Amino acid sequence: MIRLVFLGPPGVGKGTHAGLLAKSLKITHYSTGDIFREILKESSPLSEKLDKYVNSGKLVPDEIVFETVREVLSNEENENGWLLDGYPRNKNQAELLDNFLLSRDEELDYAVYLYASTEVLVKRLTNRRVCSDCGAIYNLVNNPPGKKGICDKCGGILIQREDDKSETIKKRISIFEREFEPLKEYYDDAGILVKISAEGDLERIAGRIKEGLKIG
Ligand code: AMP
Repeated sequence: MIRLVFLGPPGVGKGTHAGLLAKSLKITHYSTGDIFREILKESSPLSEKLDKYVNSGKLVPDEIVFETVREVLSNEENENGWLLDGYPRNKNQAELLDNFLLSRDEELDYAVYLYASTEVLVKRLTNRRVCSDCGAIYNLVNNPPGKKGICDKCGGILIQREDDKSETIKKRISIFEREFEPLKEYYDDAGILVKISAEGDLERIAGRIKEGLKIG
């Protein structure tokens, strides 16, 4: 049983690497961003509430996000473990998670922090395309689909996320910088922070993550 969180700025490759690692460890990958985008596809009282935050790049209030996280982690099917991608985004969210785990006699094993320069982040985000059906992630430069605009995995249409447009990208990176320092310290103090450079090619980064977690 392994319990992980993936931290890092928008565009650093959290979703891609969280997905690869979860597959290789056979654990469940939960992305709060993906869960919210899924909820937003249908109209509901919750999707009305989420819309103004998610599509403009602002953080969803902690209580709403944590409720979602608590629900998915209570799922009995997580027997090999789980990996949270995109949660926590601030220290308060980390404390809410820890208190929840403590109440179940559980704890986090590692907080994986992926980092890269702002220049690399902006480049990756503006070139990112996602499948509107299955959520698969592509990059027009490093990891393009076989057929332009079409998902290799399911044939769905590739789109640019509303919050991957240039002005919103800058806002998201600056929100990340403001919230991240205390969060990083929190996991550093707990002795579970693993820092990984997310620059360079995909396989090398994936290798560094496994080395960092001593599962390579
Ligand atoms: P992501 O796909 O991780 O970039 O998340 C997309 C959007 O979902 C963010 O810009 C936020 O609006 C919202 N979101 C996802 N995770 C969180 C979180 N842990 N706390 C607050 N908002 C979140």
